[in-house]
Amino acid sequence: MSDCVFCKIASGEASTRILYRDESVTAFPDIHPLAPTHLLIIPNKHIASVNDLEPDDEYLMGHLILTARQLAREQGIDESGYRLITNTGVNGGQTVFHLHLHLLGGQRMKYPMG
Ligand code: 5GP
Ligand code: ZN
Repeated sequence: MSDCVFCKIASGEASTRILYRDESVTAFPDIHPLAPTHLLIIPNKHIASVNDLEPDDEYLMGHLILTARQLAREQGIDESGYRLITNTGVNGGQTVFHLHLHLLGGQRMKYPMG
């Protein structure tokens, strides 16, 4: 997807501080952080949203979550807790249509959601 900002970040075409990258996922800070820690974890291949996942993506999605857990440890927020979010579609509040996990922490999150 040549016009997708997260594809450009995953490929290295757009310069961003990369916190983690391997052959299937990339993690970097959100440009507009909503918490002391606010990272985004994305699959390197373009998947628009959870709606577009295929059965073959099961391992990839598990890897995305385990990468988030590892980053939470590295950021020192694993014990205090954090929130993992993936917004889907307009009502979900999705604005970038390349699937991503938000990792938010470093403060008490507001609850209830919605
Ligand atoms: P969504 O609303 O789709 O769940 O989240 C998209 C997130 O991507 C937003 O929190 C927004 O701040 C972040 N974002 C949008 N464009 C960029 C960008 O070019 N670089 C980075 N690092 N974050 C971005
Ligand atoms: Zn993309």
